[in-house]
Amino acid sequence: MSTQRDLFIDTHCHLFWEDFRSDLAAVLARARDAGVTRCIIPATDFETFHQAREIAARFDGVYLAVGIHPHDAGKLSADFADELRRHARDEKVVAIGEIGLDYYYDFCTPSVQQRVLHAQLDVAREVGLPVILHNRESDDDLLAVVREHQDGTLRGQFHCFSSDARYARAVLEAGFHISFTGNVTFKKSILDPVLSYVPDDRLLIETDAPFMTPVPYRGKRNEPMHIPLIASRFALTRHQSVAHISRITTRNAVDLFQLERSSRNERS
Ligand SMILES: [Zn+2]
Repeated sequence: MSTQRDLFIDTHCHLFWEDFRSDLAAVLARARDAGVTRCIIPATDFETFHQAREIAARFDGVYLAVGIHPHDAGKLSADFADELRRHARDEKVVAIGEIGLDYYYDFCTPSVQQRVLHAQLDVAREVGLPVILHNRESDDDLLAVVREHQDGTLRGQFHCFSSDARYARAVLEAGFHISFTGNVTFKKSILDPVLSYVPDDRLLIETDAPFMTPVPYRGKRNEPMHIPLIASRFALTRHQSVAHISRITTRNAVDLFQLERSSRNERS
């Protein structure tokens, strides 16, 4: 039996959120103790990108994504794509995100959301970065938009996947990775079939902290230390070991986001 912890990368956590302001150092220390040695913080607009960048400057193993969340797509200036392009060149930035469509909330119209998404996909292709995609009740439109941009080079993560295996198949065929959060642990989850369906080389793991807290901590703030709870559910559903889940999800995150092979923390 190995005494070594399984190592994980939390590919989606919003550590700039107000909930983390008072104890972020402790949150990241607990994550490291749980084997979660690296994480990606996707911004939701330029203001949160600046907050995330300050976090990445203070702590090791923190990477960033820059993008405009569909909730914030209505408040943009005409030259936002220039600003996005500029931030995309920041050395800690590994993706354009979080971008996408959200037809559940009504913060701005589908046509505005789609226009902003198209512009950001153009920038992603131009700078050669993968995308982190948010999808809520917008399955068909989101897939149609990303397919339009798929010239064989576009890669990305369908984050917090909550659709069925039929949709997963289309997403995989379009060349994208699929990522699950604590939602796979919920008692009413119907995600087991799709969680088993995603092949080893396209599977990613994330918390989406502070949201989507896995069982048995539902109702509390989510944080990266809970990744092993999600990994255990992956292992159970997919009939694989947690060590295997650790290996494949870490390898896929490193490949997709072009991270260093291993961080200093992981080697120690
Ligand atoms: Zn998110």
